[in-house]
Amino acid sequence: MKPLIAGNWKMNGLSASLAEFDAMVAGYDVVLRSAVDLMVCPPTTLLTSMAVRVGTSGIALGGQDCHAAIQGAHTGCISAEMIADAGGTSVIVGHSERRADHHETSEMVAAKAKAALRAGLLAIICVGETKSERLEGKALAVVGQQLKESVPVDLDASRVVIAYEPVWAIGTGLTPTTADVIEMHAHIRALLSDLFGAAGASIRILYGGSVKPSNAAELLSAANVGGALVGGASLKAADFLPIAQAAAAIVR
Ligand code: PEP
Repeated sequence: MKPLIAGNWKMNGLSASLAEFDAMVAGYDVVLRSAVDLMVCPPTTLLTSMAVRVGTSGIALGGQDCHAAIQGAHTGCISAEMIADAGGTSVIVGHSERRADHHETSEMVAAKAKAALRAGLLAIICVGETKSERLEGKALAVVGQQLKESVPVDLDASRVVIAYEPVWAIGTGLTPTTADVIEMHAHIRALLSDLFGAAGASIRILYGGSVKPSNAAELLSAANVGGALVGGASLKAADFLPIAQAAAAIVR
């Protein structure tokens, strides 16, 4: 399966930023397209504009969160169906910033993942340990528990992507060692096989946390790393496209 390079723009981007998206569309040429799946998850305010500009480039669009319900009295929230209606084909759920800032539990994340599939979207389900959990030797256990609680087993495995994002690596410039990435991704792979049987082997597991052009090749070459979820470096085409190119250059 092709690696997936997904950009999470978080709460960044005004209409002027559509020029960066246009540069990504232009740079995602036929060669890159044949080797890598590219996705941008902008703030919802830009989703429709990007859906118009994406043309036939093949860049996928996604949301950064969704409510579990289809519709209703939930001021300020958006449903998975709304993301699909705006041109998205995926949604990130359970990002650590949502878990921390909005007190989202794994149970809530599982409900959002179900909502994503209900709306026909791909669910990108995030898990990851804090710095203190890693220092205390609990990283594997914490991520395993999050995974079991955040990934409903009755989901169609082909519509699920897992993003392993150590909380302490997000936006800090810090990254785990390659050995730690390999260990964690192998752990997640084993758990996915327990949950989904043979289908668990083909679920993409993205690495996320301070991925940039200079470290992308090493992180993306690690066993069981099926791509990257990229925050800061996804805002500029000049950073994002080289990450996709690094993924394309890896012989699998
Ligand atoms: C993220 O928040 O999903 C992320 C990986 O951010 P950054 O690449 O900026 O660390």
